[in-house]
Amino acid sequence: MRPPGFWAAVRLVSFANVLIGEANWRTLWWSHEESVRVLEAFTGTERAGGGLQDSLPLWLELARCMRRYAMKRRVLDAWNVRGPRTSYEWPPARWPKRIEKRSRNSCALLIALQEKTRIRLAAICAEHRDEEPLLSELRRYRTPTRRLRYDPASRETALVDAREETLAAHLDGLLVNTLVAGLWDDIYQCPKCGKYGVKILHGERITRSCGSSRCRSQLNRDRRKDKRDALLKQIASETQRIRRLPVDEMHKALRRKFRLTRRELLKLLARLPERGPS
Ligand SMILES: [Zn+2]
Repeated sequence: MRPPGFWAAVRLVSFANVLIGEANWRTLWWSHEESVRVLEAFTGTERAGGGLQDSLPLWLELARCMRRYAMKRRVLDAWNVRGPRTSYEWPPARWPKRIEKRSRNSCALLIALQEKTRIRLAAICAEHRDEEPLLSELRRYRTPTRRLRYDPASRETALVDAREETLAAHLDGLLVNTLVAGLWDDIYQCPKCGKYGVKILHGERITRSCGSSRCRSQLNRDRRKDKRDALLKQIASETQRIRRLPVDEMHKALRRKFRLTRRELLKLLARLPERGPS
């Protein structure tokens, strides 16, 4: 099981990553049961080779984002189980229906809230992070608790529960939960497309891709190039050092030192800038 703090971080980055527009902004809300049914329908479509429409409902996009983080075996279990469905990897919570206090929901409000979330995540992912401004903002956050609501007109009372919180407060809460779980360092931004992600394993802060095959292969290509450039630099300086040796002995020495085949060495040498006789 992944801890609740982890899922708080995943919900946060998933919300930051989805594409919100006039066509889909009303489709953010989802409940636990729906999400599982959606996952089944979604994988069914994928398996059948059918494509999805251009404009996905937001809950489907969120389910897609979160599916990446579910433990593989358990998700498969969830897909295969036909009986009562009780063990899922994310909390069975419905997202808040309201966006802000005292304001009517609109696409612009939702986008503004997403922008704010992205700015906060960018601050968290910054190389030299200054937590002070964000922590000051979050100081106002209160955990939603059940409180008594009294309606004088009907003389009725009710307990207002956590689901009544606004989305703004909910997002604050996700950020606070992630902080308390010590996971701020696990949030990162894909250097290729700018999407946010959560490290599945704790570890040092290294550049990671968002998980899309496109970003991953671009990043791998960058890494290979960096490695090759570093090697070229070493070869260039070594070549300079042993430049008085006859060419074939020089090649032999280089191959031994850098453990290269003849072919590999010649390929690398071809990339070195031409050097005049010294
Ligand atoms: Zn990416």
